[in-house]
Amino acid sequence: MGKSAWTQPARESLRANRLGPIAAFDPESTPGFDGDKADGEALLAERGEHLADLQELLYANGRSGDRRSVLLILQGMDTAGKGGIVRHVGGLVDPQGLAITGFGKPTPDELAHDFLWRIHKALPAGGRIGIFDRSHYEDVLPVRVHNLVPQAEWETRYDLINTFERELTEQGTTVIKCALVVSKDEQKARLTERLERPDKYWKFNPGDIDERAYWDAYLEAYQAIFDRTDTDNAPWYVIPANRKWFSRLAVCELLIHALGSLDLDWPAADFDVEEQKARLAASE
Ligand code: AMP
Ligand code: MG
Repeated sequence: MGKSAWTQPARESLRANRLGPIAAFDPESTPGFDGDKADGEALLAERGEHLADLQELLYANGRSGDRRSVLLILQGMDTAGKGGIVRHVGGLVDPQGLAITGFGKPTPDELAHDFLWRIHKALPAGGRIGIFDRSHYEDVLPVRVHNLVPQAEWETRYDLINTFERELTEQGTTVIKCALVVSKDEQKARLTERLERPDKYWKFNPGDIDERAYWDAYLEAYQAIFDRTDTDNAPWYVIPANRKWFSRLAVCELLIHALGSLDLDWPAADFDVEEQKARLAASE
């Protein structure tokens, strides 16, 4: 691997508003990257170290009172690899600095509240990287596809989400939204594997097969999300996910860029360094 193999930064090649319709998107592609799997894996190992350094900087600043944080929102159909991103990209940094939350079907308690209630409770504290495995976007995905609330209600949610995310960024949280896009065939192959391997049964949910019948409706719901909620302060990235090595590398790059943009420095000592050196030297 001579050069890095990125021909264009991921934040440009994968930005939702630069892509055509999601229905025509190729989940096998690797936009902006002309390397192969071996290149991608080697680069991820290297870039992971940089990510870990940046995460430590963020954490150190958080310990010193900096309120800034990063929130990575992961969306995608079942089997798209959201959990793999959490393990393989989240796993590159110190777990102490992460705040990972998965959002499943709302509990009765959650349903009794506004849809953003459970989201607010899970936001990362200063110095942390929050990762959402599913998010408030579920409230315009299955909820929209199946009209789990009336259309008049879910229609209002796009604006509510934009307002929420704008406030979030104004309060110092950098928001990155990634939609992992797997093809229908690849999903079938991955579901088949779940049914063939006892160590994968736990991931299988019979309802996932029912949802396949609504594939096009989900794509439409994703398109509406990109059309209405891809903003410069909370951008959407579309991540082709048939090749896991690529989706992991791409998300790692997006996180590195987000953290790098904070332009962090090591926090200054809140003690007199020379004085402490002298005290230490004089101690037994
Ligand atoms: P998993 O991510 O495989 O654990 O599955 C979680 C399930 O919860 C998925 O089928 C989601 O679509 C569903 N889910 C998550 N949030 C919501 C929501 N707000 N409304 C309806 N279903 C949801
Ligand atoms: Mg599932």
